[in-house]
Amino acid sequence: MPLELIRHDITKLKVDVIVNAANTALKMGGGVCGAIFRAAGANELQKACDKIDGCKVGEAVITEGFHLDTKYIIHTPGPVWQGGGNQEAEQLMSSYNNSLNLAKEYQCKSIAFPLISTGVYGFPKEAALQIAITAISSFLIKHDMLVYLVVFDNTSFGISQKLFSSIHQYI
Ligand code: ADP
Repeated sequence: MPLELIRHDITKLKVDVIVNAANTALKMGGGVCGAIFRAAGANELQKACDKIDGCKVGEAVITEGFHLDTKYIIHTPGPVWQGGGNQEAEQLMSSYNNSLNLAKEYQCKSIAFPLISTGVYGFPKEAALQIAITAISSFLIKHDMLVYLVVFDNTSFGISQKLFSSIHQYI
């Protein structure tokens, strides 16, 4: 089943589409969002995002990839962690599902996800990693796509190592 867990900078990947852990206003932020905007060309990407009227938590929208090595960027705002009793898990699951379905709609054969919501949005990393894998695995039962799940920081890498015996480390 084509799901690869890798340690990398998502902006360096050559895939059809990368997913941005966006905010609902679709404005350039920090973390992975800032890195994606900088690598794609912040002005051009911001202009494209401003043409879209925001995006709700758990939904997904698409722009071109501009200067990235990808055709597209899918922007999905994950939930802000509020203790777990506010549908955060369901919303995070929706972010993955809607992104995968949008990628399929655009005929993408490969996609890379960061660990959505696990930075400033505070979603517990181990739970977030498990949700990501559950959503991606159920999608891959029905559809053909190469999916990379990208871990970046030390804590995420540590958790993924604990959960999986083999991981390709590039940085
Ligand atoms: P959110 O606002 O959804 O929490 P963040 O960007 O703060 O988004 O963090 C989401 C995850 O992205 C974090 O686990 C962070 O370590 C990771 N991340 C940050 N920069 C990159 C990058 N260049 N490539 C891949 N993952 C990254």
